[in-house]
Amino acid sequence: MTVDLLPPRIESAEIQWRDGVPESSRFGDVYFSRDNGLAESRYVFLAHNGLPDRFNSVPAGGCFVIAESGFGTGLNFLAAWQAWRERRPEHAATLHFVSVERFPLSREDLSRALELWPELSPLASQLVDHYPPLTRGVHRILFDGGRVRLTLYFGDVLEALETLNFRADAWFLDGFAPSMNPEMWLDKAMAEIRTHSKPGTTLATFTSVGRIRRALASAGFEMQKTRGYGRKRDMLTGNLPLAPGTEHQAAQGSVAVVGSGIAGCLLAHNLAERGIAVTLIDSSSTSGSGASGNRQGATYVKLGVDFNDQSELALSALLFSQRRYADYRDQYWHPTGLLQLAWNEQEHDRQQRFLGRNDYPVEILYPVSQERASQLTGVPTQTGGLWFPHSGWLEPSNLCRTLAEHPGINRAFDFKVTRLAPVEGQWCLSSVAGDNIVADRVVICAGHESPELLPIKGSFRFKSIRGQVTHLEEETVRAPRAVICGPRYLNPAHAGIAVTGASFDLRDMNPSPTATSNQENLSELNTMLPGVLAGPSATGTSTQGRVGFRCTTHDYQPVADELQDAEGKTVRGLYLCTGLGSKGLTYAPLLAEYLADRLSGQPECLPARLSRRLASRRIHRNAQK
Ligand code: SAM
Repeated sequence: MTVDLLPPRIESAEIQWRDGVPESSRFGDVYFSRDNGLAESRYVFLAHNGLPDRFNSVPAGGCFVIAESGFGTGLNFLAAWQAWRERRPEHAATLHFVSVERFPLSREDLSRALELWPELSPLASQLVDHYPPLTRGVHRILFDGGRVRLTLYFGDVLEALETLNFRADAWFLDGFAPSMNPEMWLDKAMAEIRTHSKPGTTLATFTSVGRIRRALASAGFEMQKTRGYGRKRDMLTGNLPLAPGTEHQAAQGSVAVVGSGIAGCLLAHNLAERGIAVTLIDSSSTSGSGASGNRQGATYVKLGVDFNDQSELALSALLFSQRRYADYRDQYWHPTGLLQLAWNEQEHDRQQRFLGRNDYPVEILYPVSQERASQLTGVPTQTGGLWFPHSGWLEPSNLCRTLAEHPGINRAFDFKVTRLAPVEGQWCLSSVAGDNIVADRVVICAGHESPELLPIKGSFRFKSIRGQVTHLEEETVRAPRAVICGPRYLNPAHAGIAVTGASFDLRDMNPSPTATSNQENLSELNTMLPGVLAGPSATGTSTQGRVGFRCTTHDYQPVADELQDAEGKTVRGLYLCTGLGSKGLTYAPLLAEYLADRLSGQPECLPARLSRRLASRRIHRNAQK
């Protein structure tokens, strides 16, 4: 029986343990063979898809895509990952594992189930550590520095297949027995499996039910019955007919990324890790010199009262940023926790409505009283708020520099792009100094300067918003232990300074810090946390600051897409990633991942309903329908 839950929570599996083996009480079936689940997984799913032998032929910059129905305990995933580790090519190549799960196991049950396989324990512990909270939608998780990418869709299989964008090389069809789990084996789902397959795709399943064989055959697979594992007499395998040599598509040429802020650096690094030739271009002599050049920045999103596509995108971005930045923990990433303060009546009401209409796992956020808020942050607050235990603050400029130093990135700094022109199927970027860089694809990640670089005419719906942060010397403020957000944010002190900000100045292009903006920041901070300021900084006249310009769109949603002109025609090979507003540090990792997926022709980490929110078509004031 399924229960209606408040979003974004998804119902978890109901597990019954029999002799240490997990069974589903809901479906009355086992997750894997009682004889030896791991041997079954290797026999049914790996061997009958020609794995791991096929891994070796993945070209440099390419990928192998396994898709699975029914993630369950993740045993098949771990078996595939282990096989990939043993047989992957020497060059940069990626194993993608796309899996769907309607009733995910809790982290505790997952951990317990995987204890059965000591030989998988180094991988299992990583899966357990990175296992996402039980919320609906797509979770992209990276292992082995991104050489293994897991796309986990928490929801129904049909819904997943209709909204995910990927094409598989091999399928693991692993629901419960069709008689007990009919929704998993609908003819419609078989047709979707065909749509998501490449020529030459293979499939394997433990079942040998005639209806399933006929449905897959009528979807276009050549089906065979073969000996099953252990006590199972038969199982099925299948393949889509292939024209030889068309199995793998190599990466589709070089990429130039313009702008070395957080979005550009994450994207260039992501592409380089996947083995794609990338040049990172910036007009200044270092990376992170624009809005990403601040000493500190909070990873923060405002989740809507209604759980709609916009909230889902914000949540996906938040969770992915926490996982992505974990690589830089205690270096440039400080997951101190973050308090979204219910600082006035209006925000208090909003938070109450938000809590009434949503059910977020406590790993993501939970409400805290005024007393608890004060304990968690270490400063006296006037109210409680929402506590995000895994959020925190980042050193964006330091992180940008480290990301840009990847050996696979060709850096072209002090290169101010003045012209971007298509030349014989490629793009030529020309600098003020008369130098040229040619690339197959270009991604403009130049923040508020992006519109100027677009090689199409039009009126674009971008706004540039000045933001000044104020640097507070440690002795002038009661710096918190965790980030506090309200009308301003206040970060913990680092190297003697706590950063607060940022101002929100429309129609002000002054690049220098001003005393007025500092005073404004301090006065807002004082409203939010009365008494937190001490000493001379209270006036703001003598304090230091830094100015950056955010780029926002009319609907405050970012753009991450191949460019379309106002008529809806695609400008081939030219991509845009901007409009991240004041949430850039949180959105940039997910948008970089998504664009890198598209640029490399690999499975996408966003469902169609969310990638639509990022469409470039929106930027045209006069877009034709
Ligand atoms: N591959 C798994 C492993 O390695 O542990 C075992 C999968 S188990 C046999 C089948 C899984 O399919 C269960 O976890 C079940 O919750 C899931 N499932 C059942 N119906 C589903 C549906 N309609 N959509 C998505 N997943 C479903």
